[in-house]
Amino acid sequence: MKNDYQVLLYYLYTTIENPEQFKDEHLVYCKKIGVLGRILVANEGINGTVSGTKEQTNKYMKDLKNDPRFKDITFKIDEASEHAFDKISVKVKKELVNISLEDDINPLELTGTYLKPKDFYQAMLDENTVVIDARNDYEYDLGHFRGAVRPNIRNFRDLPNWIKQNEEILEGKKILTYCTGGVRCEKFSGWLKKEGHKDVSQLDGGIATYGKDPETKGVLWDGQMYVFDNRIAVPINKIEHTIVGKDYFDNTPCERYINCANPFCNKQILSSVENEHKYLGACSEECRIHPRNRYVEKYKISKDEVISRINQI
Ligand SMILES: [Zn+2]
Repeated sequence: MKNDYQVLLYYLYTTIENPEQFKDEHLVYCKKIGVLGRILVANEGINGTVSGTKEQTNKYMKDLKNDPRFKDITFKIDEASEHAFDKISVKVKKELVNISLEDDINPLELTGTYLKPKDFYQAMLDENTVVIDARNDYEYDLGHFRGAVRPNIRNFRDLPNWIKQNEEILEGKKILTYCTGGVRCEKFSGWLKKEGHKDVSQLDGGIATYGKDPETKGVLWDGQMYVFDNRIAVPINKIEHTIVGKDYFDNTPCERYINCANPFCNKQILSSVENEHKYLGACSEECRIHPRNRYVEKYKISKDEVISRINQI
């Protein structure tokens, strides 16, 4: 049935004394109530996305909030028609997000000013502002705030170095940062402050919250929001929808992500169904002719056929 499911996105920086034990118990609990998803647990808190029926996810939220450690947690809730995951995984990590610093940032002690969606919107309009997208390049490419800076990174841990190499974009500016749900910005904005930047603010609750805000209605967002579950793309701007994604092969507007069919490459690329077929699901000739090409295996395409198709490109 339609929209009988919900997808929850949440995190909280809070102290979890024994993450291993919490992980074991939480996994048993999740299996018992039937939610699916991916949850990271660390000494410094919890970061997760889960999906389930409304009944399951409502119970999940209630139970988590009843735990004194998580009483301040905020859930971003999306309605859905089915699960957004195929399984449940709960893992212990050293950090909730890996920013690869010698001295890690504790957002409970140092972080940027939290701006609610409406205030973030106002701040973006100020021409003295620089807006930094704290996500990865492939997330940016599917959608982003209009005029935001696109760090050329594949991993969050590379962000501090990228900023150091492009320091001039921040000079004399008010800095705004944003990410999907807010968990990355808590550390990134703290790091910017530690680096000596005075005026640093972050979008409270991330893009996910901005997209649900009744006042902003998601304006100034172009494209869709990349999410790390089966949905991949989620709409944000309720007033207008512009497609910013571009097909990897022919640059036409595109919002469909595939993974390169060479399992050893696995690069995420935007591709239409037609181009996926034409290019054998792969990002390069090397990946097209790779003996383990998943697309070739799936459609049982013969070697001769592969060569003949490549010659037609
Ligand atoms: Zn490839």
